[in-house]
Amino acid sequence: MSGDTRIGGVLYDIDGVLVTSWREIDGAVDAVRRVRESGLRRTFLTNTTSRTCAEIAERLRGAGFDVDAAEIVTAARLTGEYVGRRYPDASVWVLNHGDIRRDLAELTLDDEHPDVIVIGGAGAEFTHRALSRVVELMLDGVPVVAMHSGLTWATDDGIRIDAGAYLPGLAAAGSAEITVVGKPAAPGFRTCADLMGLDPAEVLMIGDDLHSDVLAAQQVGMTGVLVRTGKFRPAVLAAASSAPDHVIDSVADLPALLKGLPNRGK
Ligand SMILES: [Mg+2]
Repeated sequence: MSGDTRIGGVLYDIDGVLVTSWREIDGAVDAVRRVRESGLRRTFLTNTTSRTCAEIAERLRGAGFDVDAAEIVTAARLTGEYVGRRYPDASVWVLNHGDIRRDLAELTLDDEHPDVIVIGGAGAEFTHRALSRVVELMLDGVPVVAMHSGLTWATDDGIRIDAGAYLPGLAAAGSAEITVVGKPAAPGFRTCADLMGLDPAEVLMIGDDLHSDVLAAQQVGMTGVLVRTGKFRPAVLAAASSAPDHVIDSVADLPALLKGLPNRGK
């Protein structure tokens, strides 16, 4: 932030900041409520591709947060908007783990003869046959858009590899670049600032992933805040080549941090 720029809104990562396994992280509900009452705008940004915005809002309300589906931006929603803008009237094949068609309502879905391929979160759908077909279509010139480039996701049963583990191989075999939309790609952060009617420099982003949330937000000019909850690991922070603007123990400390920063809240 420079000059007289003041923070006008907060962009929240969800998992590891507000909830873990959809249970509130201590003090998060109260902190989010106090920030809203101070008058700052807000948006929630997640790389989730297995649940719709409405389902996520419902889960958050179940954990005690007063949140509306329209305030939630998922990698799936961002991708739907991006593909709709970039490839109007295209038919789209979505390879994804989970049914998020409701967040892709503006797209014409067609598995058989796609003009565009959208790659979502990885799961059992990512078979040898399906991935081979992606490459075949890429070699025929069909563009590929990925919802995000996350490498892993956690289940109760252990770690699973995610789409990001496949993308470099697909790009090499298909001889084409793959556009990535969700975190840490810059456009998603800018879209969230737009949704709040703010310049990125007026937005504070708070997340538990140093690279994908915090440093990526700082790249587009936002103020980055890292929390020591969720996937935070001291070793990752110590090894990083750049530093977050702020590090706090948890989102519960956000209202106090904001008091010390130039902002438009009261
Ligand atoms: Mg997170």
